[in-house]
Amino acid sequence: MDYKSIQTKAQKSIALVAHDNMKASLIDWCHTYLETLNNHQLFATGTTGALIAKQTGLNITPLISGPLGGDQQIGALITEQKIDVLIFFWDPLEAQPHDPDVKALLRLAAVWNIPVACNMASADLLITSRLFEQAFERKIPDYHGYMAKRT
Ligand code: PGA
Repeated sequence: MDYKSIQTKAQKSIALVAHDNMKASLIDWCHTYLETLNNHQLFATGTTGALIAKQTGLNITPLISGPLGGDQQIGALITEQKIDVLIFFWDPLEAQPHDPDVKALLRLAAVWNIPVACNMASADLLITSRLFEQAFERKIPDYHGYMAKRT
């Protein structure tokens, strides 16, 4: 695969997802970084987004609930370069009915080189990075080059 560099803007599009046992932790995390998160565009799966919006007042674009396809929606947005950061507090101690979607989302985040935090410590490091509030370059697959070779 050939790669190309693209510029991720200072204002990020951030996807927030938490499995049921992890929702309280993600809401706490959002409270901690409310001021920073207010400067960015936020997306979330249905229930996660509704709870965060209600309990923190953050403005969130809601997607479908995760088990009904929300993780896949985020994955699709990642392929379109519409999500820059994924904060995904998945539950390591309980199987989910939509495990295949979880795996697919994490795979697409890796394919498109999106910064991902899967627990609070990683999310703390990510949001306090100096690059969080700055534009930065990241490499993504060169889709046009890929298609040109295949057709
Ligand atoms: P939910 O989905 O925010 O609608 O609960 C999250 C998930 O389980 O992927």
